[in-house]
Amino acid sequence: MNRFSTTRRFFLKRFARYGATLTLLASSRISFAKSKPALVGIRVAETSVDHTRIVFDLSSGIEHRLFSLSKPSRIVIDLKNTRKSNALTVNKNNTSLLSGIRSAIRKSGELRIVLDLKSNVRPRSFILKPDGNSGYRLVVDLHATNLDPTPIVTSQQQRHKRKKEIIIAIDAGHGGRDPGAIGRKGTREKDITLAVAKKLKALVNREPGYRAVMTREGDRYVVLRNRVKKAREMQADLFLSLHADSFKSPRVQGASVYALSLSGASSEAARWIAAKENASDLIGGISLDDKDDLIASVLLDLSQTATIQDSLELGSDVLKKLGRISKLNNKHVQQAGFAVLKAPDMPSILIETAFLSNPSEERKLRSSKHQHKLANAVFAGIKVHMKNRMI
Ligand SMILES: [Zn+2]
Repeated sequence: MNRFSTTRRFFLKRFARYGATLTLLASSRISFAKSKPALVGIRVAETSVDHTRIVFDLSSGIEHRLFSLSKPSRIVIDLKNTRKSNALTVNKNNTSLLSGIRSAIRKSGELRIVLDLKSNVRPRSFILKPDGNSGYRLVVDLHATNLDPTPIVTSQQQRHKRKKEIIIAIDAGHGGRDPGAIGRKGTREKDITLAVAKKLKALVNREPGYRAVMTREGDRYVVLRNRVKKAREMQADLFLSLHADSFKSPRVQGASVYALSLSGASSEAARWIAAKENASDLIGGISLDDKDDLIASVLLDLSQTATIQDSLELGSDVLKKLGRISKLNNKHVQQAGFAVLKAPDMPSILIETAFLSNPSEERKLRSSKHQHKLANAVFAGIKVHMKNRMI
């Protein structure tokens, strides 16, 4: 196929798309054929937040040159001996990476296009020859880059070296005007959870490669969803919510670990506890009315399934270690619809350390020594989990 027929076919298709008449096509064909190659369309597509593709529709094959400039970040594309079509169309010029497209004809006869950028990108460009419904195209891919100017290809080893520390979000349950469960001696759940959380934080921060972030540092009321939000903002890898249980019978005892369930609650007891822990937002005067939304979005999101699986494994590792220092209320990780476990991409567990309603366990929970043992057991479980996940 010679170049003329390609050009003709290309414009035939393009005019057909715009509903132009055959008369117009006949008269235009001659002028287009005689003139320089033209840029006839710019199509911008955002395939993801860190990838924008820009397709330049051309009337024929051309030579181009592309380079990056900084301060402000922009990419310059020079199209050799090219003109801008009067009918040039641009579908959009704003994506998460791109903030605008400018163009100008240079004295040398080049058509210069400037892509204004919102952040540093790694550009790639290539020419596509006509096929099917499309003519010549210059494709420019913009990929987001980190500030880190390391080469595109990195070995597995380098990647591990650059991997950030493991961030553990520690959520001391309840707080402020929400005391949580209250023991017979008046022990408040919110004080126990904060005490254990602080000990756990110290252990985590002492371990190289680990860092702890807290959803609350003091006796403060924090809405459940803000606890998760804060952990995600801090880019936590794992989320642990610490609690102390209570039940009407003082004999009931032992620790339990929960992960999120897709259907809300996998057992009656779990449902009851979920209702109780989620109710803390109502106690604080703000209704947490998103449980239906939660279930709906969770069911749609397959990544949640993987996260729950990871949460169950983390829960099991922690439960094993807890079993060495205290009785267990249930030997298996329970699943329930806790609002605080709802992050779709962050393995999350809720730990009921013991029963405040059991006099013997209330005594233990008040003891600094036992609080330390709990923190140790939880962190030991986390380390086992993270080690297994690396392999
Ligand atoms: Zn609680």
